[in-house]
Amino acid sequence: MPARVEALPATGRAIGVDWGVREIATTTSDAHDLPHPQHGRNAAAKPARYQKTMARRKPERGQAASKGYRQAARQAAKLHRKVARQRQDAARKWARKVVRDHDVLAVEDFTPKFLARSTMARKAADGAIGATKNALIEMARKHGRAVHLVNPAHTTMDCAGCGARTKHALPLSERTYTCTACGAVSPRDKNSARVMLLRAGLDPAGVEGVRPDGPPARQAA
Ligand SMILES: [Zn+2]
Repeated sequence: MPARVEALPATGRAIGVDWGVREIATTTSDAHDLPHPQHGRNAAAKPARYQKTMARRKPERGQAASKGYRQAARQAAKLHRKVARQRQDAARKWARKVVRDHDVLAVEDFTPKFLARSTMARKAADGAIGATKNALIEMARKHGRAVHLVNPAHTTMDCAGCGARTKHALPLSERTYTCTACGAVSPRDKNSARVMLLRAGLDPAGVEGVRPDGPPARQAA
């Protein structure tokens, strides 16, 4: 917990946040969606090149590493730090905006799995999501905003309109959620973001004017 809460003015607004591979964050507010940064994609080619050099010049057991190997290793580490710094800056900037504009946050409790078989792109996306989620929670606590961490199970299968659950998980390629129960049609990730609000006990229909249940955390400051 921060030593001191820097309270912000109440907004009367809540937001649902869904993490993803296409966009880092899709939210119930179009103005607060966060795409994956371009610099992450551009930077993905370079580490591969350094890794190739390192693999080619990998020292034999018991041998000292060559100058070329050490150089590539140094450049790879430097690039890694640069990408991490850019990611952290982007995450904080976005988190500040989300926290400034909302009293209550319903956030998917995403945990990256870092499976050995996941692709480099998936690993990079998971890393970006993890860093952004941490930045958001930290920023919310700093400013005394209420954060609900929402269990992500089945959030892509539930309808934010009527609460019905589809029988089968949508394939990732299916970008539209169509509810067979109530007929609601919405972009898949927007539906998931609204499900976050529902699961946090907030009303997605009145999201712009929603009031949190009970006293907001900021009053505890
Ligand atoms: Zn429905």
